[in-house]
Amino acid sequence: MYVTFLECSRCGARHERAKLHNLCRECGRPLLVRYDLARAGKTLTRDSLPGRVASLWRYREVLPVADDASITTLGEGWTPLAHARRLGERLGMPRLHLKDESFNPTGSFKARGMTAAVSMAKELGAERLAVPSAGNASGALAAYAAKAGLEAHIYMPRDASRVSVVECMQYGAHVVLVDGFINDCGRIISEKKEREGWFDVSTLKEPYRVEGKKTMAYELAEQMDWTLPDVVVYPTGGGTGLIGMWKAFDEMEELGWIDSKRPRMISVQAEGCAPIVNAFAAGADTAAAVTEPATVAAGLRVPVAIGDFMLLDILRKSNGTAVSVSDAEILESVREIGSAEGIFAAPEAGACLAGLRRLLELGEVDSDERAVLMITGSGLKYPHLWSDLP
Ligand SMILES: *Cc1c(COP(=O)(O)O)cnc(C)c1O
Ligand SMILES: [Zn+2]
Repeated sequence: MYVTFLECSRCGARHERAKLHNLCRECGRPLLVRYDLARAGKTLTRDSLPGRVASLWRYREVLPVADDASITTLGEGWTPLAHARRLGERLGMPRLHLKDESFNPTGSFKARGMTAAVSMAKELGAERLAVPSAGNASGALAAYAAKAGLEAHIYMPRDASRVSVVECMQYGAHVVLVDGFINDCGRIISEKKEREGWFDVSTLKEPYRVEGKKTMAYELAEQMDWTLPDVVVYPTGGGTGLIGMWKAFDEMEELGWIDSKRPRMISVQAEGCAPIVNAFAAGADTAAAVTEPATVAAGLRVPVAIGDFMLLDILRKSNGTAVSVSDAEILESVREIGSAEGIFAAPEAGACLAGLRRLLELGEVDSDERAVLMITGSGLKYPHLWSDLP
């Protein structure tokens, strides 16, 4: 295990490894895991990868678990990168790719974060895990907690997808439906966790979900033969995946695997909940909370992101941008991806296509660029969005 310490993303304060942490004890912002990459790189080389396990645990040396026995895995990661020929033709974009995260256990990329977070929680002695979720995070926590033999306590908005509620219950989780938004669910957990002995695995409020999600960038680089795309389009809620991928690019550069060139990172949000898009347009360093978040893409209904300052920094440093799209465009895009590529994408992923189309029209993305849309989950969990179909 090559973790050296945890570092605050804001103030840089160092925190001891091998202890349960939530946010920075100095400033209350997210902690990031740092590794001794010189040592990790002795066994983790590009040539060592073929033949390794076909899950995200192939990047074992840059994942935080000390004891292999703590690893709680359901086969997550190492998902297909599909060349989207037919969809690309429709957009006039021959080099369009889809990273198909619907292959993950529980049907979304939340599995990546939870395999790492639950493995670490188990290793460090947590027994009861709690999370607020509008959908996919709940199913993923419930599944990994079940596999690890830990309790999962899940707080969901009452209007969350029935599929997600039922799924959590079949994994044996404790589910509470809340009249409110995801931040209300988060607040209830904060209030109760001390008394109940819960460990809060809210996104970016513990350091390891980012570590699981960063592996998307390792996979992209490996699957593209150690080049990176020109553009990565990411449907942004809390932004854990975007922050994770950016971190992984830096790690891979330090490992000597890639150069300093980075993809332009593009955040897509829904018009009814676009705090990062608004802040980006305003030139702000942090994002103001959205008061009435509304969108069919539950994973994007995140009115406040604790990592907002990192997201805005990444978008600017990468020369990327942020764009919002309507729910109608999102749903239409899901059908386009499905009918052209045979992938039933979650609405959040539909937002990626709608955002890309907008940026192509605006000339902010060129049609000859190599772009990757992050298809972050499966549409199978959202039947309610199409319940009016015959
Ligand atoms: C959670 C979720 C997102 C947003 O992910 P963040 O890392 O919170 O930005 C996007 N798509 C799907 C399908 C999700 O479940
Ligand atoms: Zn700090």
